[in-house]
Amino acid sequence: MVGLGYDVHRLAEGRPLVLAGVTIPSEKGAVAHSDGDVVFHALVDALLGAAALGDIGEWFPDTDARWKGASSTQFVEHTIGLLASHGLRVVNIDATLVLESPKISAFKQEMRENISRACQLPVQRVSVKATTSERIGFVGRGEGVEATVIVLIGTIEPR
Ligand SMILES: [Zn+2]
Repeated sequence: MVGLGYDVHRLAEGRPLVLAGVTIPSEKGAVAHSDGDVVFHALVDALLGAAALGDIGEWFPDTDARWKGASSTQFVEHTIGLLASHGLRVVNIDATLVLESPKISAFKQEMRENISRACQLPVQRVSVKATTSERIGFVGRGEGVEATVIVLIGTIEPR
């Protein structure tokens, strides 16, 4: 089964910019209740979508004290556990990040490794790509960051 996830966050000065668990040096960061990690949020929605298990807002509501101050890495790990409990495992992940600045090419490998660890998946099965919005639209004006993630999941083979 395949699943697609999309997320966007507004950017503002003085906020940390966390992408796939990596804190990127930046003047602007995501405005959010959580760490505002668009890559991990889109990944959670892709995983839930592939398993037809709802969406991130249903599983990790802002109002739930259990998730107050939780990192988005914990959302991903919890979702992987949820899939496993349904007999499902991840086959591969492909993420695309759209951000005008700063350039994040130096951080892509670390992002892949963080996704790999959180999803218990070899790093060779994790792709992270990045592009800009050519200075047009809200991303192009530096007002936001967006991510799209597609995942393939399969069933866990009985031993
Ligand atoms: Zn989000």
